[in-house]
Amino acid sequence: MRNRIAILGGGPGGYVAAVRAAQLGAEVTLIEKEALGGTCLNRGCIPSKIFQTTAGILNRFRRCQEFGIQVEGTPRVDMPALLARKEKVVSTQVRGIESLLKHNGVAHVKGTGTFKTYGSMNVLTADGDTLRIGWDTLIISTGSEPLEIPAFPFDGESVISSTDALNLDAVPESMVIVGGGVIGCEFACILADLGTRVTVVEALDRLLPLPSVDAGCSKVLQREMKKKKITFLLNRTVTAVDTSNGSALVSIGPSPFAENIKAKDHSPMQIETDKVLVSIGRRSNSKGIGLENLGLETDNKGWIAADDRLRTPVENVFAIGDALGPEKVMLAHVASAEGVIAAENALGGDRKMNYDAVPGAIYTLPEVADVGLTEHQAREKGLDVRADAVLFRTIGKAQVIGELAGEAKIVSDVQNGRVLGVHIIGPHATDLIAEGTLAVTTGCTVQDLAATIHAHPTLSEVTMETAFKAVGRALHG
Ligand code: FAD
Repeated sequence: MRNRIAILGGGPGGYVAAVRAAQLGAEVTLIEKEALGGTCLNRGCIPSKIFQTTAGILNRFRRCQEFGIQVEGTPRVDMPALLARKEKVVSTQVRGIESLLKHNGVAHVKGTGTFKTYGSMNVLTADGDTLRIGWDTLIISTGSEPLEIPAFPFDGESVISSTDALNLDAVPESMVIVGGGVIGCEFACILADLGTRVTVVEALDRLLPLPSVDAGCSKVLQREMKKKKITFLLNRTVTAVDTSNGSALVSIGPSPFAENIKAKDHSPMQIETDKVLVSIGRRSNSKGIGLENLGLETDNKGWIAADDRLRTPVENVFAIGDALGPEKVMLAHVASAEGVIAAENALGGDRKMNYDAVPGAIYTLPEVADVGLTEHQAREKGLDVRADAVLFRTIGKAQVIGELAGEAKIVSDVQNGRVLGVHIIGPHATDLIAEGTLAVTTGCTVQDLAATIHAHPTLSEVTMETAFKAVGRALHG
């Protein structure tokens, strides 16, 4: 008899797991309450990169004389047209997933899934009907949603989430962004380029304060954000937002998380702004769906625990993607990779996720991307490492396209030259990181990278030049 696999949640984790399980011969049902593609396609990766693309084009238009182009008038964003383009791209992609599921014979059920007993799922459809779906194996991919601050919850007008920000029908004059992590910094750069006066408030001592992001990348990003006239207040937190007067009055105080705060960062202050975007993290969607009826416990925030084979402690129940919370890595390509592994393991495989070689792609302007260890992490592990960096301005292609800010850094093992980490800030960093990811995944060396001929003129030469430096024969860097 075919293995009946039910997958709850049709984001990049769930729909990819569904396709893989069907390819392997399972009878698959995918349950999704909203549009297929989840956060990533409908209110995350894809819409935000559509905004980032428009911001980048606008930026280039502003610099058009530098490239020998005369334009009459002032270029400015047309928000309704931008939103229409977003809808078009997203709906094309959603339809693409629908036909992918159909082509692979996956049954797609629209509705909200909950559990009363092990081995079955109740699905409440939009028509109010309840369907009962039996399963031998369950994959939970319910994802996450924006986390709000109880003292000033989202109202969709003055205090907004990333989802609201991707539906703005006009460019706000000013915005305070609470949280200088990935989403906060991406929106800060996009909105500043669209014309908003942006202030970012970050509780720690640098923007992008993630362990995986090299401190040097944060420094360059902060310099470039200053050039865009973005204000950022580090070591501070937003303590209150008063929206009683139409706009938002934001109270800011010293951060309880930061160490060695300077006296100037202690003084409380207030900023009046059009909108406040809260981007302080995500919360689990798994609460209230009856996981306890399966015998599956979550932590107190609702995150599910799974091992590197994506198995939960409950037999034949797997969990993937954002549902696993910050203990793993909350990124779309991680959810998809976990989906493939969970599907294969559900059908007799024995594969493990490699969390040591996950690329991170941050769509600020300039972009930031990383894979593997930072220099700091490698030294903390007691490894004997070297870190070599080359500036983009030394690369011909960067001069051609007029994108000079940034650098690439390779962290390698002094003993054997093994590439331990690659960190890039600069033009197309999010594409360039693929080579670093291959290097870290396959365990190749800086000698291998230096011996690889890179096409000229390309931005990828920055990786080759950095490898040249690491093997002691820098050419241009
Ligand atoms: P989700 O994509 O959250 O999908 C879960 C799905 O489950 C949802 O569609 C939900 O409706 C459904 N669901 C939940 N509960 C039920 C239920 N009970 N019944 C039925 N259906 C249910 N990641 C990147 O890698 N690159 C980026 O550039 C990037 N940019 C981002 C930008 C923003 C603004 C945001 C918010 C996120 C971004 N992310 C990015 C993160 C990425 O979107 C997530 O990591 C990814 O979507 C997680 O996939 P998932 O399948 O685990 O969950």
